[in-house]
Amino acid sequence: MFFSFKKFSNSKYAKYLPKRDLDNLKYLTGIFPFKVSEYVLDELIDWQNYKNDPIYRLTFPTKKMLSLKNWKLLKEANTEKDKRFVVRQIRRTLNPHPDGQKDNIPKIGNRTFEGIQHKYRETVLFFPAHGQTCHSYCTYCFRWAQFVNLDDYKFKSNDYQVLFDYLVCNRQVTDILFTGGDPMWMNNERLFKYLDIIAMPELNHVKNIRIGTKSLAFFPERYLGEQGTELLQKFESLKKQGKNITIMAHFSHFKELGTKKVQQAVQRILNAGVMIRTQAPLIRGINDSPDVWREMWKKSVFMGMVPYYMFVERDTGAHEYFSVPLSDAYNIFTEAYSRVTGLAKTVRGPSMSAWPGKVMVDGIIGSGVNKKFVLKFIQCRNSDLINKPFYAKYDNQATWLDELEIEPEMNRFLIEMAENSDLEDDCMNDVA
Ligand code: SF4
Repeated sequence: MFFSFKKFSNSKYAKYLPKRDLDNLKYLTGIFPFKVSEYVLDELIDWQNYKNDPIYRLTFPTKKMLSLKNWKLLKEANTEKDKRFVVRQIRRTLNPHPDGQKDNIPKIGNRTFEGIQHKYRETVLFFPAHGQTCHSYCTYCFRWAQFVNLDDYKFKSNDYQVLFDYLVCNRQVTDILFTGGDPMWMNNERLFKYLDIIAMPELNHVKNIRIGTKSLAFFPERYLGEQGTELLQKFESLKKQGKNITIMAHFSHFKELGTKKVQQAVQRILNAGVMIRTQAPLIRGINDSPDVWREMWKKSVFMGMVPYYMFVERDTGAHEYFSVPLSDAYNIFTEAYSRVTGLAKTVRGPSMSAWPGKVMVDGIIGSGVNKKFVLKFIQCRNSDLINKPFYAKYDNQATWLDELEIEPEMNRFLIEMAENSDLEDDCMNDVA
């Protein structure tokens, strides 16, 4: 069962919240998408101490996520018409699509491939229309625009042909990432139709199927019971057809790894020969401590999963409330990383998914005015720049790449890159 605000406010859980908090929640859920699964309410949140509970903070918006000005505007809107106007205005100030995601929608000739993003040569992202929701919504979501009524800000496609046509003519693509929202929201029938496309002989070059999902944390039941068995059998059959499948599991806190259900679900997925890699952004008030990450990576490895990324919170939504300065992020990562075994050192970070690519903060060197961040691209629109260190002036307040003073030579490269993407003209066939 999944709870909207209305359903939540009539539930037994709402009794834990004082009236003022419940009233605020009503206003806030007008701006930020809100949905929470029964599993999260029942098994993850400690209601006796909900204010300090990381999973409560992960799923329930708070007043501080809005500026005072926006909060006032929201409270003072009287008529329904005013409210709709204010909500729309505020949402547009929250940077719905950070880092030029719209630039990643590919075009071949006159045909635009809606629902696809293609930023790095070998990897294509696909946003199935029925997967543009989640089992619960994260308060810090960087894809929040997918869930609200801002249609011109949504990426989605329910066209199987679009996916096939784009992949068939991009033979350099080895990886498809189904993303959302959460593609695991789709029922098996819908999901399998997409997976069957990837299994077609014409798409033999697409070797790796990745599914980006938070379902293990928010709804592990997806992998249990009859539906779960059918899903895992599908994975096994795709493996036999030569596809490698990886679940890119979003876990924000080690608490999400502690229930019987998630442990069973992980075990079943691994038994089907599917790899699970774990990733999450670093978020103030939820997981901004080395102990949380160390414990999460340790537990992940123990359960058979592979720690993959610590991301920097993206510059969208309530970014100012949740973001952690890059210098703190680097220190948190380093402290956690230095206290785990080699098996967990598969993790990379802190990494910013910025316009030019995934930029990792790899070190802090020097002192005084010569203090610098050492940065490097893990992924980049221009593959020549990957894994080559570059520098930016140290700034203990900066939270994102565009707040940094980058060394002049790299800055020039970045400007040039903005003008020439190396993805253009890769298509050898005409599918328009
Ligand atoms: S699971 Fe991902 S897409 Fe869904 S609400 Fe959380 S951050 Fe957003």
